[in-house]
This record gives sequence, C-alpha cells and structure tokens, in this order.
Amino acid sequence: MTEYKKPVPLPGPISEPFFEGAKRHELMLMRCLSCGAYRLAERPSCPECWSDDYEWVKGSGRGSIYSYVIMHQQLHPAFADDIPYNVAVVELEEGPRMVSNIVGCGNEELRVGQPVEVVFDAITEDCTIPRFRPRSD
Ligand SMILES: [Zn+2]
Repeated sequence: MTEYKKPVPLPGPISEPFFEGAKRHELMLMRCLSCGAYRLAERPSCPECWSDDYEWVKGSGRGSIYSYVIMHQQLHPAFADDIPYNVAVVELEEGPRMVSNIVGCGNEELRVGQPVEVVFDAITEDCTIPRFRPRSD
C-alpha cells in the first residue's frame, strides 16, 4: 500500500462502530429504537424524535446521487493531484444522506438521481472509508 497523505478520519466514541463496520465492508447505520428512523453516526440522538436509544444495523449500501459538485479549487494541499474531483451527497435507501465520492466513472458521467452502491476503500491499514460507484439496476 502506498503511503496515504490525505487527512484520515479519526473515529470518535459514537462513530467507532461505523468505521469498524467499514473495515468489514459493511455500511453501518444507527437505527432509532423509538421510531425506527435511520441515521449516520454524526448524531447522538434521533433527528426525528430526539430519542437517545438506538441500535447499529447493517445498511443496504445502496442509494442514489442526491447532489454533487466537481471541485476545481485546492482547499487542502493533499488533494491537489486529484483536481478536478467530485464530492457527492448520496441519499441512502434507508433515508440518511451521506457525503462521499463517486468512483468508477468520469465526473462528466455523474447525474442527480443516478443509482449507486457502496464500495470500500482501505486508505490505510487502520482506516477504511466508504465511497460509491454507479450501479445499473
Ligand atoms: Zn426516532
């Protein structure tokens, strides 16, 4: 593995199961035990009903592109060689929207509403992050 020079996400107490799941190639979501709404690991309480009770469940890893931008500006020196690169908001089938990158196609092929599925990118020995690629079904 070549040395990864970009910032590496540091799991916190809430997000650790998410990153452990990514290492197993599972996209883990939090599911509210009160109302059943799904959310990402960014929120300690449910955005629908404010309950703090949740369980971790494996998500489908499927969704669609809700929005995207093509970055032409260098906001961090570590990303200079990637310009232009895409940053996409993926709406998961379970509901939450997740900021990620679309891989496996050119930036000019991206479309809002395009179906995508998760892929897992082991950026370091200890950290795997989810990205998404187009799916045809
Ligand atoms: Zn809830």
